[in-house]
Amino acid sequence: MDNIHLHKHDLPAGLDLGTVVAVDTETMGLDPRRDRLCLVQLSSGDGSAHLVQIIPPQLGGRGANCPNLKALLADQHVTKLFHYARFDIAALFNGLGVLTAPVICTKIAAKLVRTYTDRQGLKDLCRDLAGVEISKQQQTSDWGAVDLLPEQRAYAASDVLYLHAIWAKLEALLQRENRVDIARAAFAFLPARAQLDLMGYAEPDIFHH
Ligand code: MN
Repeated sequence: MDNIHLHKHDLPAGLDLGTVVAVDTETMGLDPRRDRLCLVQLSSGDGSAHLVQIIPPQLGGRGANCPNLKALLADQHVTKLFHYARFDIAALFNGLGVLTAPVICTKIAAKLVRTYTDRQGLKDLCRDLAGVEISKQQQTSDWGAVDLLPEQRAYAASDVLYLHAIWAKLEALLQRENRVDIARAAFAFLPARAQLDLMGYAEPDIFHH
């Protein structure tokens, strides 16, 4: 676990995670309007993970007062790499008031090239593209706790540690299948898609008849 760094309230100043940073979030639930943001995980792709705990004022925390994290999420020169970015961008916008961009989403990329399967979950991509078995056992645990359990920290880290390896494989497949341009256009739309979800356009979808 010495590759997992837990930070309360914000990233440390001066931390350089490179130009493509893997990002994931843990929340109190699946509705970004209802369920608060609890944890933001980041990795440069070097095998280590930084976990930033967002602790609300009533628990002695600083809430959305995390300037270093917010600057990274909004930095136009740093691409944020997600699996299912649509949810995480909404959770980060609702929790921190910052719109994350630019982004890459491995789930969108997988759907564009792995058309032979509907198994596009992170666990599937880790197994098929990175040769790693990850456990989803802690997914439904209580992320609102101030003291996160070691197994929660390990799970949270595993959601960002393999995204660079997965993206490298998917990017090659996008090139092979001549779908790089449509993938880029879909990624560029994701911040707007997340905002539409928060505005209430999730279901029925704004593109639906
Ligand atoms: Mn996660």
